[in-house]
Amino acid sequence: MPQCLEISQLGASVIRTPAQKVPNVQTPEIQTLIDDMIATCQDSKGAGIAAPQVGHSLCLLIMASAPNKRYPNAPLMEPTALINPRILALSEEKEKDWEGCLSIPGIRARVPRHCHVEVAYIDREAKVQHALFDGFLARLFQHEFDHLIGKVFIDRVDSTEDIITEKEYQRLFYM
Ligand SMILES: [Zn+2]
Repeated sequence: MPQCLEISQLGASVIRTPAQKVPNVQTPEIQTLIDDMIATCQDSKGAGIAAPQVGHSLCLLIMASAPNKRYPNAPLMEPTALINPRILALSEEKEKDWEGCLSIPGIRARVPRHCHVEVAYIDREAKVQHALFDGFLARLFQHEFDHLIGKVFIDRVDSTEDIITEKEYQRLFYM
């Protein structure tokens, strides 16, 4: 049975440490970590999670987009593990939208992100995959990829005035 893992929070050194490449995807340790990260992401109602967020400094992220209370407009994407992802191309066009992060609870920010991103990664069966993400999924990928290089979403804001509390965010959008 997959286990829910403890989520590392901003301030933990693992959140600011660039992650190491996964040398071999098909070990029981990595396969278990993937299953546990998917369970942790679903339990926390996140749209994605990166290995440093569960204390593993490894280039591994999960995208698990589905509409929920935190992200009502998220498209449905089966939980997918992206191992050793690389960015091949980014659109010049950017757009700003709201993000939150399981490692920085209580905070939301409007973050500019590239609208389109082309990526390569290894899947959990060790096959090389290419993908083109747009809109919410492009944003989600860039947010999770940042965790692999020791960055978090509040590093990417244009202005600190784009950072607000979760309570005010709820007031803005749900009251
Ligand atoms: Zn995050």
